[in-house]
Amino acid sequence: MDTTWECIVVGAGAAGLSAALVLGRARRRTLVVDAGRQSNLVAHGIGGLLGHGDRAPADFYATGREQIAAHATVELRHGEVVSGGQEEGGFVLELGDGSRETARRVLLAIGVGYRYPELPGIEERWGHSVFHCPFCHGWEVRDRPLGVLDQGGGTGVHQAILLRAWSDDVTLLSDGPAELDADEAARLGAAGVGVDERPVAGLVGPHRTLAAVEFADGGERPLGGLLVPVVRAQRGTLAGQLGATTAPAGPLSSGIVQVDPTTFATSVPGLYAAGDIGTNMPSVANAVAAGASAAAMMIHGLMTEAGELASTGRGAEDDDVDRRRRAEQRPGSSA
Ligand SMILES: Cc1cc2nc3c(=O)[nH]c(=O)nc-3n(C[C@H](O)[C@H](O)[C@H](O)COP(=O)(O)OP(=O)(O)OC[C@H]3O[C@@H](n4cnc5c(N)ncnc54)[C@H](O)[C@@H]3O)c2cc1C
Repeated sequence: MDTTWECIVVGAGAAGLSAALVLGRARRRTLVVDAGRQSNLVAHGIGGLLGHGDRAPADFYATGREQIAAHATVELRHGEVVSGGQEEGGFVLELGDGSRETARRVLLAIGVGYRYPELPGIEERWGHSVFHCPFCHGWEVRDRPLGVLDQGGGTGVHQAILLRAWSDDVTLLSDGPAELDADEAARLGAAGVGVDERPVAGLVGPHRTLAAVEFADGGERPLGGLLVPVVRAQRGTLAGQLGATTAPAGPLSSGIVQVDPTTFATSVPGLYAAGDIGTNMPSVANAVAAGASAAAMMIHGLMTEAGELASTGRGAEDDDVDRRRRAEQRPGSSA
């Protein structure tokens, strides 16, 4: 009996679960290995996901797992892939329990770690009244006095002006002297964003709610929400071990795996990456879409390899990309 999986999906967050569903519906022998630490688990809900108004993340993932469990060709396993490598015709992965699994295709859907600034009072409010993404959490704090913490990462002015879409009362907290050039100062002024330069000491308020930011001088500023900068970084070294090329680090991310934006193929044939690990536009909706697309591409590739689909000699994934590009180039095409 062939013990090689057609596909191993590493990670069962939005991207991995979405991929597993598509693979299961196409009756592909698939193993999903997941450590159960989706990045948004602490959040009050999932903001901005069509059909799931503010749904608790844990509930969303549980429903996804239930839906996938109805597909006999998919095994969902709790665990961690601790190392991996390429071998002829596919990949070998080692799990934390010492077992080894082989597969012809691997989808990395392992998400990223989100590192927020160290500040007393931030941890318990993270994903509630303290957040990094206005599109995810801005609606919940709309019309309140809002702050944007800027510790010199270069994005504070942009974020503060953006946050005006949710509140007329936005203050940039520069946590020390604000180093604004004339253009930035003018743009903040035009947007009606104030600047508070006092060094920040901590956050206060009942439970997960934010009532005010406290300054080192003992003063306070009432706030109903705080946008903070995060650095998103790869969880572990698995992508590198498998040979995937990583995009250059930017101010807000380090170690995002380079993928084709249509197929989610990495630089390694047969290795795909979907969700936060392969994007600078992280969201649950994008992760669901990426996982579904990657799975469809893997199914094309597997069926081409098996001689069921006609081969272009370059793999069905490439063929599909080529067809899309040709369609886009046709005059009058809206594809
Ligand atoms: C606090 C917070 C709040 C957010 N709120 C929103 C929101 O309201 N709306 C929105 O659209 N987006 C939100 N986001 C972003 C959104 O959560 C992510 O973009 C999305 O969930 C990414 O999905 P993913 O499947 O790529 O990764 P994840 O959901 O992080 O899932 C990855 C999974 O892979 C597992 N894993 C990692 N390494 C291994 C390994 N080696 N072996 C086995 N398993 C492994 C992890 O344990 C995890 O279960 C938020 C993010 C954060 C941090």
